[in-house]
Amino acid sequence: MDRFTLLFHDFQPLLALTTTFTGVQRLQPLWETAAVSLWVPAPIGEQIQQAKLPIPSLQVGSDLLREHLTQQWPAHRGLIFCLATGAVVRLISPLLQHKATDPAVVVVDTNGQFVISLCGGHQAGADALAQAVARQLHATPVLTGAANGLALPAIDRLGKPFGWQPGSGDWTAVSSAIARQEPVQVIQEAGSTLWQNHLPAEHSFQFGFPEVPAPAGSPPTPSPRARIWISPMQRSFSLEADFPKVQWHPRVLWVGIGCERGTSRALIETAVQSVCRAHHLAEAAIAGVATIDLKANEIGLVELCQGRQWPLRCFSAEQLRQVSVPTPSAVVEAEVGTPSVAEAAAILAASPSSDASLLRVRKQIIRQPDQPGAVTIAIAQADQEYTGRRGQLWLVGIGPGQLNQITPAAQTAITHADAVIGYRLYVDLIQALLRPGQIVEALPITQERQRAERAIELANWGLTVAVISSGDCGIYGMAGLVMEQLQHSGWDGKTPAVEVFPGITALQAAAAQVGAPLMHDFCAISLSDLLTPWTVIETRLSAAAQADFVTALYNPKSQTRTQQIETAQQIFLAHRAAQTPVAIVRSVYRPDQQVTLTTLDQMLAHPIDMLTVVLIGNQSTRTFADWMITPRGYLASLVNCETDRESNRESNS
Ligand code: SAH
Repeated sequence: MDRFTLLFHDFQPLLALTTTFTGVQRLQPLWETAAVSLWVPAPIGEQIQQAKLPIPSLQVGSDLLREHLTQQWPAHRGLIFCLATGAVVRLISPLLQHKATDPAVVVVDTNGQFVISLCGGHQAGADALAQAVARQLHATPVLTGAANGLALPAIDRLGKPFGWQPGSGDWTAVSSAIARQEPVQVIQEAGSTLWQNHLPAEHSFQFGFPEVPAPAGSPPTPSPRARIWISPMQRSFSLEADFPKVQWHPRVLWVGIGCERGTSRALIETAVQSVCRAHHLAEAAIAGVATIDLKANEIGLVELCQGRQWPLRCFSAEQLRQVSVPTPSAVVEAEVGTPSVAEAAAILAASPSSDASLLRVRKQIIRQPDQPGAVTIAIAQADQEYTGRRGQLWLVGIGPGQLNQITPAAQTAITHADAVIGYRLYVDLIQALLRPGQIVEALPITQERQRAERAIELANWGLTVAVISSGDCGIYGMAGLVMEQLQHSGWDGKTPAVEVFPGITALQAAAAQVGAPLMHDFCAISLSDLLTPWTVIETRLSAAAQADFVTALYNPKSQTRTQQIETAQQIFLAHRAAQTPVAIVRSVYRPDQQVTLTTLDQMLAHPIDMLTVVLIGNQSTRTFADWMITPRGYLASLVNCETDRESNRESNS
């Protein structure tokens, strides 16, 4: 089973280009983790072959870099150069067209220290790509866009997580107003307001209409200098240079369509356009099309949906006839078994509870003299926008506590996700990895199920969600709970896409602090009997003690649960010497770390709590100075069987 990381998913297809062998070496962590093609000129291709570097998608150029780039430019969403910035600027300058369509361009310096977001920082996502690449290469991202300094979301990225479509307006001028921290009015008539909850305290957005008088005694609101509309309405802006405006269109409109057999795509499309125009609705705000299942294979309709990338939702006559609509028709009922197709389908697609008040445009019948067929159109507005995105759930282990103990892949996942969900303490630990504009939801420790449900809900809606656990998220962490809940909710194993990012678990971190206690077979046992019956835990403790496993005890003791660690000690004392070394490691890799080396009979004399992991040695474990070592038998085997040296060396790897 091939599993490539989903980290660079948003930038596919992604191409890296370099003209030196050092460049190839610098970029190596990229294709080791993600689907990235690499282009090199022919001589470097030979060097790669000689060095036997396994690069999965290698393009060796017979052409010049400039020619190759010209060809590849329109076909890629992300380009990563390891080349002099000046050279890259010259190469791409003739190819740049518009920031809405150009790919994201990032440059890695040949020392691999910096990753520059060169072009397409916001709309193409080059800032995000530079951050992701920098995390993989252990480099510093260089982001020069103005919003980055203010900890504000870039205005032309704002709606991307929710699948909003950017509409017309002067994006550069509104972005500049925000960068100058001038008051910018936001009028949001549709779409998620989650982004508003995660703004820094000192933002200069004003929400709502200034016409609403401020409460008596409050200071006057400064006049806005720019405006952002978030709405399904199509507004045409006049060119008032000093008051720039932009509009985002959340995809909330479901277009219900009924049509005669054989109606052309052109007629249906014209009908949709004219109804939208007549009602000042933006076509960009269309979520999709809804109709009766009899029309699922209506060629004009299918072609339109494919061409515009609109989902086509089909309902049976039985479902449609349950919906109460303003304009039922006896003729339609006689023909297809429901008095309404367009209105009922629009309402059903917009709201599973068929709330008829969501209908915005009643049915309109449109014909054209030169075209065969007729089209009926109605439009309903959903409360929640359709994102058009495949959700992703990233289950991320953040290690025991310090940022530098988190894998680069996990760091990238946290920085890149649309939403980060976790227990408050862990969210605090990874503050430095968070990015402006991210949705960050920290929940109390007791609410694991709610955390998992929330993460699944956001991912099912189309967001990329990172669920963070301390240590490894699959070791007494959130990964199991999320996957179990997904399975219960009828998940097909694919959507949302799941990726697990491993982390250093408490037993490894604790072991590192005391030396090499886990060098022979070991096991982990949690003493928490909240979810596991105590009799089961006791059986496992006995089995581990008998079988001479080095044993790590997680959740050893809480304020109310104090007996279990005593019982565990008794069980081990029945099978191991009183002097067996024990390490008690608290808050490892956190500022208040405490490490205590003791023995099995003395272990309870030291403080143990829920921030502690206890490592109990096996029969051969010993201490030396401040270290705890479990021999694996190398020295004995060297003495006893000189001839086995080679095989020993292998098992050491
Ligand atoms: N997923 C985590 C374990 C969560 S269970 C991991 O892989 O490490 C919680 C228990 O883990 C705690 O009661 C404690 O026993 C242990 N633990 C987690 N972080 C720890 C740390 N920094 N220092 C010591 N023990 C820790």
